[in-house]
Amino acid sequence: PTTQTAAPAGTQRSAHLFARARAVTPGGVNSPVRAFDAVGGTPRFIASARGAWLTDVDGTAYVDLIGSWGPMLLGHAHPEVQAAVAEAVARGTSYGTPTVPEVELAEEIVSRAPIEAIRFVSSGTEATMSAIRLARGFTGRDLVVKFAGCYHGHVDALLASAGSGLATFAEPGNASPSTPGVPASATELTLVLPYNDRTAVEAAFAEHGDRIACLITEAAPGNMGVVPPAPGFNAFLAETCARHGALFVSDEVMTGFRASRLGQWGLDGAVEGWRPDLMTFGKVMGGGFPAAAFGGRADVMAALSPQGPVYQAGTLSGNPVATTAGLTTLRLATEEVYTYLHQVGDVVKAGAAEALAAAGVPHTIQSTGTMFSVFFTGEAVTDFAGAQRQDLPAYAAFFHAMLDRGIHLPPSAYEAWFLSAAHDDRAVQTILDALPAAAEAAAR
Ligand code: PLP
Repeated sequence: PTTQTAAPAGTQRSAHLFARARAVTPGGVNSPVRAFDAVGGTPRFIASARGAWLTDVDGTAYVDLIGSWGPMLLGHAHPEVQAAVAEAVARGTSYGTPTVPEVELAEEIVSRAPIEAIRFVSSGTEATMSAIRLARGFTGRDLVVKFAGCYHGHVDALLASAGSGLATFAEPGNASPSTPGVPASATELTLVLPYNDRTAVEAAFAEHGDRIACLITEAAPGNMGVVPPAPGFNAFLAETCARHGALFVSDEVMTGFRASRLGQWGLDGAVEGWRPDLMTFGKVMGGGFPAAAFGGRADVMAALSPQGPVYQAGTLSGNPVATTAGLTTLRLATEEVYTYLHQVGDVVKAGAAEALAAAGVPHTIQSTGTMFSVFFTGEAVTDFAGAQRQDLPAYAAFFHAMLDRGIHLPPSAYEAWFLSAAHDDRAVQTILDALPAAAEAAAR
């Protein structure tokens, strides 16, 4: 009798590493969704990646649809990004002083986004946390409004879920911490509202408008799957905030330089003629390194130390290697890249729709710009409650059938499928070939 692992053939090394990892790290991972808890099975430990492909420690290659959860717009190991990073590393990796690439990246983003000043941090979490502190410091108010299903990183005040009165009672204190470790006092100044619900927003501002420091929203939610803002919704939010002296904080950590070259704002604000007071960025602008940012109106940003009184800092903020990777990535992210992402996205979406329809699996595919996701529910999803009506076991079956055929989807039904400029015909064909059998697996 043998005591071999129960893992399917071809995942022994990943299974062994997962066991080692679990012995020294909670759940064996450094960010929860990587553990495959939502889909079951053994997470693949990736040894290398190039273009559209991941290769795991057992030597299996997968077409990557995670894209590092957004950053890898150009694909993995892009030669020009690699070369720029190698040169930056050769010059030294961190000085704790001002540097050239951070100025260049700041100028690049300020020239593209509707912001006048920017401050770099190391993660999207830090960006939203700092934006909220700045909004409170600038306005002298304490309440923060967010939407259910929008994720802004693991900021205490934003790890809040709404109570059962979500739709009707937008009272301070309607939000309770969504995790142990966040005291009720950290979320009692957070109001949680249903997404795309103008009436709820109007009621919250009518009641508490003079106490609201800011409203923060994902520019287009991507963390409950892709739920586009209803036409005019972001403009309405910007206008409502302005009317009440609150700041409108548009979180473009995921959509920035991804949904379009100008992010989600390029799809609505730039067309409709409004701008957020503050914005947050991450993912693509870090080129696969830990870099993120927040920026906005000059007068608001001037409140930030050392220019103003609101404190904010970071040992590795504006790191020269990370900002070099980000700058090189953004310079390579031309309109042609987004045109191409639209094209391959349309092919993959059509393939998924066809396969799921043929197998009789209820599904809805939603997009904003080049970003899209596949919901395992037959109804259009406009808010978090709708996203939660998905058939999660069907997604798990679909996920594993795709994985077995060499496609690595995000291990959760609540995520966008991230393509890159490196998803060429071979990668796309590999996806299309796998879809019918995966749809059949989901139907069972
Ligand atoms: N905001 C949004 C919209 C995000 O999607 C994320 C991460 O997924 C964050 C903030 C947090 O960023 P990070 O994981 O870099 O802390």
